[in-house]
Amino acid sequence: MRGSHAKSEPQTLTDWLAQENADWQPQYPFPGDVRRPVVDALAEAQRELCVYCGRKLDLSAPGKSYHIEHFRPISTCPDHEVSLANIFLSCGQETEPGNRSETCGTAKANWFDESLHVEPDYPEYTAAR
Ligand SMILES: [Zn+2]
Repeated sequence: MRGSHAKSEPQTLTDWLAQENADWQPQYPFPGDVRRPVVDALAEAQRELCVYCGRKLDLSAPGKSYHIEHFRPISTCPDHEVSLANIFLSCGQETEPGNRSETCGTAKANWFDESLHVEPDYPEYTAAR
């Protein structure tokens, strides 16, 4: 696994998150006007490479040719649902409508073990590489 560069939070994401109030909390999926800048920021930080295998990502078909990966799964770590620090791009493209290839983010699915993980953007893996 190759580390990614530091992420910079898109202003549209910052503004969307700031709308949180007593009656509304931001939840995944991102709305369309937030999603694209988030994907662009992730792609830049990861050099358009899958965060797990390092394969060049195909970003041509949003939501179909790549996977927005929640490193800590939403199902078990809901506090990280819209945190940019927990979100990466990975392989996991649709092979046909509704079916995703069993690679990287899709294969990992909701598996996560806090005691076994290495942060994908761990700075020591990122520095000078
Ligand atoms: Zn991959």
